[in-house]
Amino acid sequence: MIPFNKPLLVNNEIRYITDSVASGKISGDGKYTKLCHKFFEKEQGFKKALLTTSCTDALEMAAILIDIKPGDEVIAPSYTFVSTVNAFVLRGAKIVFADSYSDNPNIDPDHIEKLITSKTKAIVVVHYAGVACDMDRIMNIASENSLFVVEDAAQAIDSYYKGKRLGSIGDFGAFSFHETKNIIAGEGGLLTINKEQYTSRAEIIREKGTNRTSFFRGEVDKYGWVDIGSSFLPSDMIAAYLFAQLESIDLIQTRRKELWLRYYEKLSNLELSEKIHLPVIPDYATNNAHMFYIVCSNLDERSRLIAFLKDNKVSAVFHYISLHKSPYFEGKYSGEQLLNCDKYSDQLVRLPLYYELKFEEVDFIVSLINKFYIEG
Ligand SMILES: *Cc1c(COP(=O)(O)O)cnc(C)c1O
Repeated sequence: MIPFNKPLLVNNEIRYITDSVASGKISGDGKYTKLCHKFFEKEQGFKKALLTTSCTDALEMAAILIDIKPGDEVIAPSYTFVSTVNAFVLRGAKIVFADSYSDNPNIDPDHIEKLITSKTKAIVVVHYAGVACDMDRIMNIASENSLFVVEDAAQAIDSYYKGKRLGSIGDFGAFSFHETKNIIAGEGGLLTINKEQYTSRAEIIREKGTNRTSFFRGEVDKYGWVDIGSSFLPSDMIAAYLFAQLESIDLIQTRRKELWLRYYEKLSNLELSEKIHLPVIPDYATNNAHMFYIVCSNLDERSRLIAFLKDNKVSAVFHYISLHKSPYFEGKYSGEQLLNCDKYSDQLVRLPLYYELKFEEVDFIVSLINKFYIEG
């Protein structure tokens, strides 16, 4: 079986974990957490980076930082992972779902504009498959209406909008190092804080509402409970795994992009004959090869394709069921139909893409898809 994903172990992960254990400090904010923070701040240029135990946690921190209160409205895409909006629901927000573009699953700014009311407090965008949303337009809409922007950049490491790193454009960015992402730590995340006025409160929220971080820097002589918060910081063993991956980011990204391009080139005949649609990368966006997906003509065709691939020992998977149609939200949803979200829910299928995938395996998968569409 060719799996859909295979978590990567590059080289130094085990060595660094062993080193972290030997250091006698494996709780949060140890040696490897600091190395990861330095990587994101010095190498990648984020103003402030804080590791979290997941992207979900980073989003929950963002919701606390922007003081979401019951009744506040948050505009978000419906074609996304639960955590994008659940983090805000936990603080009492009303989620207002926007549709995707017709040619790619990212949130459509035209629709965002129509959904703004006097209660709107924030826009959460998701850079689906690591491809940037139209951030100039979204930031303009936000500044005209005094709204916060949170970037769910879970899939968007090492990807850019007009040369700007994703996760550095809105007020906050949230990244994931779950084993299905490009750079992994099993479970893990990162909150990037792009406006300096939020950094000290972010440190407090991450440390159970205490000013422990500033105590360890010697800025206060004792620490105590100063705000709300939770335990959002990961063990240094997680950071040790992550740091080894970050050191290999160029190697990982180069390989993933090669595999992505090979799929793209070899499937373009099916796009030309309009049997399938391939991912669209707008001019303002880069491709970080997080995901390779195709869009089928309808749900039935997609189900048959997934079954055909499975019969031939290839695991391909569909993705989100639009959140406005989820069991939790369906009864609460009173908005309009989101036809593009429905389309991606029914028609999008993701193909295997991981570092150790071989070119021959890509070619085999492509030949199966060709067989499915051409021979019927
Ligand atoms: C993976 C993912 C998340 C959740 O990340 P965790 O680290 O598992 O919490 C959130 N949003 C999107 C868009 C994702 O792809």
